[in-house]
Amino acid sequence: MGLSAKPSASARKPRAMPLADVRAFLEALAKANPTPRTELEYADPYTLLVAVVLSAQATDVSVNRATETLFKEAATPAAMVRLGVDGVARHIRSIGLWQGKARNVVALSQLLLDRHDGQVPAEREALEALPGVGRKTANVMLNVAFDEPTMAVDTHIFRLGNRTGLAPGATPRAVEDALLRRIPRAMLRDAHHWLILHGRYVCKARRPECWRCVAMPWCRYPDKVASPAGALPPEEAVQAT
Ligand code: SF4
Repeated sequence: MGLSAKPSASARKPRAMPLADVRAFLEALAKANPTPRTELEYADPYTLLVAVVLSAQATDVSVNRATETLFKEAATPAAMVRLGVDGVARHIRSIGLWQGKARNVVALSQLLLDRHDGQVPAEREALEALPGVGRKTANVMLNVAFDEPTMAVDTHIFRLGNRTGLAPGATPRAVEDALLRRIPRAMLRDAHHWLILHGRYVCKARRPECWRCVAMPWCRYPDKVASPAGALPPEEAVQAT
């Protein structure tokens, strides 16, 4: 697959990547970042859970800024319940959807005390029963806190799965299922981080930086961007107008 400075007249869909290339694509990301980790700051499963709940539609940087002061006041479910919704809200007002998130953080902390002895459960069903915790957050918790080979499909992984041909799918769940089928099991746990970080810093939404992408030889995206001065890929150009 070569680089093109010019976008085609219409957006083109990539073909699904062959399985041998899926492995090679991920091995290239692994070589560049052998020990990937989440960029959220946390100390234990509970503080990770709070940080992930706060991170919906917010950057990790903004969440870390908020939790730096929040966790000084409350870093356990009991302390968070004592702090209360208004107390939590004081720390997280700079984050999107802060009112609902403050309510969820206190409610999930109360539920952890009521049902799980103040511990974060390691089972998907119990995690998804907590306020503010959906499939994506449960997948992050199972992967990062409990070493499970899960794949949390956020906006970056959804875009990458489709754009590169790694795992084309119409919905986040379809991309998740395809990634779980197509990625070698031994690579799955780290693949979650490699793909998020690659989407955040290189394979960006508006202009993927293909000219410096270590996985470029295996990517099936038909409109790779050749240089920083390269044109926007066609579908991004439409969105940008
Ligand atoms: S940055 Fe370009 S070459 Fe790399 S994965 Fe994304 S679309 Fe493919």
